[in-house]
Amino acid sequence: MILKLLLVVIVGVLIYRLLGGRFPPLRRGGVEKRGDEDSFGKSVSPTNSCIECGTYVTESDAIIFKGRTYCSKECLDRGL
Ligand SMILES: [Zn+2]
Repeated sequence: MILKLLLVVIVGVLIYRLLGGRFPPLRRGGVEKRGDEDSFGKSVSPTNSCIECGTYVTESDAIIFKGRTYCSKECLDRGL
């Protein structure tokens, strides 16, 4: 009986760790973690660099205008 209870606890902990230490109903654990890894890999390999000054910018900070990447409004104005 105690052994069975222990097994249930171990399985529970394993599932908990598989989900990244977070319970999905609380913070969308597994899905959120996978998304972070994807965006991390994306931001490292094809880093966008400003076409005007060459500054590396993350996808979220970049200003993309007509397929060109700019780091700031100033560079966008200069490039126009
Ligand atoms: Zn720039």
